Amino acid sequence: MVFLVVLFCSLFVQCCAEGEQNASNKKARNDSTIVTNASDTQIPLGTKALIIAYPHFVKGYKNNNLLLADGSQMQYDDGREKSFAEKLDDADPEDMFAFTYKRTGEEPEYLQDAGRSRCEALFKMMYGESETVVRQKLVQVEWFGEKVLFTPVNGAADSLRAVVKELKDHPELKPYLKSSGTFNWRKVRGANRQSAHSYGMTIDIGVSQSDYWLWKNPGKKETDKIVYTNRMPTELVNIFERHGFIWGGRWYHYDTMHFEFRPEILIYDTSKHQV
Ligand SMILES: [Zn+2]
Repeated sequence: MVFLVVLFCSLFVQCCAEGEQNASNKKARNDSTIVTNASDTQIPLGTKALIIAYPHFVKGYKNNNLLLADGSQMQYDDGREKSFAEKLDDADPEDMFAFTYKRTGEEPEYLQDAGRSRCEALFKMMYGESETVVRQKLVQVEWFGEKVLFTPVNGAADSLRAVVKELKDHPELKPYLKSSGTFNWRKVRGANRQSAHSYGMTIDIGVSQSDYWLWKNPGKKETDKIVYTNRMPTELVNIFERHGFIWGGRWYHYDTMHFEFRPEILIYDTSKHQV
């Protein structure tokens, strides 16, 4: 997958410790330099991740704005302090990096839901602003005896095909692969934000072997402490992550059937560990 090559070869050669990065972020937001090179250290780490993950849409950064391919700009950080719920319901691009995506065997930490925060304007700009527009772009991907609909935008469908190719070498994972849905234009249950399934870059698999935080913790609110559980194998998760998909099992509000094409989250996570 192209983004992984880019990720490991060129991105964070100049990456500094996070504290230093924060300092440079503040500087970058106040200067007037147009930056179109993602290796430049003078732009926020999150913007670099977006430029590398979505090169056909996010071209650069200037004065706290993402420079988009159509010539328009999108505010990166609205500067507002947000509650946990607001980071999910009213996310700007910067909020998408507010949580830690931990690629370890540890359980997710309290309220760490990296990837559940999505800037809706950015995703609608990339994948389509309506059900009709997203649907028109979808292509079929062969998925273990099924055909699933997926978006080719940002290389998502090709990334899913690469996942299939690798999974074919792991017959022991076959029992977990039955798809229970990809594209579905809908709001998140109980919320007013668009589900990731609306954009055609998300797949749910292995429902009968999966766990969802509300099934295990009925009646709990999102800010309540909950019990974690997972039955999905690590190797399955690793294969998806190698091709740009995040896993809902890494969320405090876990959804272990859920795999979502979000290369920017993985790039950001990797960059934080490269010093
Ligand atoms: Zn899902």
